[in-house]
Amino acid sequence: MPFSHLGLSPELVEGVRAMGYVEPTPIQLRAIPLVLSGRDVIGSAQTGTGKTAAFALPILTKLQRSTGVTRALILEPTRELAAQVETAMRDFARFTNLRVDVMFGGVGYGKQRQALRTGTDVIVATPGRLLDHISQGDCRLDNIEFLVLDEADRMLDMGFLPDVRKIVQKCRQDRQTCLFSATIPPEIGTLIKWTMRNPETVEIGTRRSPAETVKHVIYPVADDQKSDLLRALLDQVHYDSVIIFCRTKHRADRIGQLLKKNNHAVAVLHSNRTQREREQALKGFRDGRFEVLVATDIAARGLDVAEVSHVINYDVPQHPEDYVHRIGRTGRAQATGDAFTLMVAEDAKHVAAIERFIGKKIERIKLENFNYKYTALFDEDKDQRTYNEKRVRGVRMSGGYFFGPAKRRKR
Ligand code: AMP
Repeated sequence: MPFSHLGLSPELVEGVRAMGYVEPTPIQLRAIPLVLSGRDVIGSAQTGTGKTAAFALPILTKLQRSTGVTRALILEPTRELAAQVETAMRDFARFTNLRVDVMFGGVGYGKQRQALRTGTDVIVATPGRLLDHISQGDCRLDNIEFLVLDEADRMLDMGFLPDVRKIVQKCRQDRQTCLFSATIPPEIGTLIKWTMRNPETVEIGTRRSPAETVKHVIYPVADDQKSDLLRALLDQVHYDSVIIFCRTKHRADRIGQLLKKNNHAVAVLHSNRTQREREQALKGFRDGRFEVLVATDIAARGLDVAEVSHVINYDVPQHPEDYVHRIGRTGRAQATGDAFTLMVAEDAKHVAAIERFIGKKIERIKLENFNYKYTALFDEDKDQRTYNEKRVRGVRMSGGYFFGPAKRRKR
């Protein structure tokens, strides 16, 4: 079914067409008519499924034209997501006269205050900065008719729920509310009961499974060979753009430095970097100026970077949901991608938790021509026993996975 049959305004259909979208994704097909009908909607969909348009298009249709009063509020857990959703909404709304503005911390108040004072129709915000503007008397929420709580489970993880509650309390009682969350832990269940009226749930695909278009594998390795294996992987893999996830900011910086020394064009993204540095890192990565983005989990959720061909988990994520979110950075919107996870012996417990969470075992493989040291992980299964037999006979291990000639495609 084309976008023009979903009940969206002609300006929004035109806006979507200008973005190059041909037909709605499953979540858009289901959520757009529901939101247009005025229902509260809970969206539970894999990342990269098109959920931004699923709420943005019907809300912008219902707003129709600018009144100079803020009537829609979208809450996001991170600055990057807020900026991304603002850009998407502006693009969708380009054939309307609706104004969309973004409010987040880490930057000055002036421009945001100005936008609030001159009247904006849609605010996309992170909770803390929005509350600052409210307490300073620059922003009121009494006219909010449409409220979206995006990435609600992430807001919970980041400790934002008390702020979210304060914000919801300030919005109109008869508003329409949409909530998006990859998982619905009990705290989110309570928030739903408290903020939503008779919501309809739209669930696309199994909530816990990674996108089907992503091929994901584990590389067992000895701890002190991790960075060598990472470099060897980058040398052998045909990639366009890679995101490498690290556990801590410090490790992200260290890996960033290491890869720079190895002549990779690298950007580093984590919360200790200034807002300007974060924006430059993302922009450069999106433009193709950086081929590698090294990041902590701040970049794991919802960030939309087109054409990420590979995700590498340099460190196994501590929370199973983060695994799904991290590898969701690749294989977005029908594209395919690969996700590699480096695993050391101490990671066994976390990997087991991830496999329980996604409901299947992740394939273990070895890199061709890499001079592996022994790790107990190689005793894990039958294939690995073959390796040990070879090792006993003094034969260098060969991997079960071949990437082809060591050549990288540059953009
Ligand atoms: P989201 O899940 O909203 O972050 O969207 C993920 C990516 O899919 C973004 O790059 C969108 O621009 C893209 N996208 C969303 N909806 C569609 C569609 N109907 N057709 C093609 N691409 C889409």
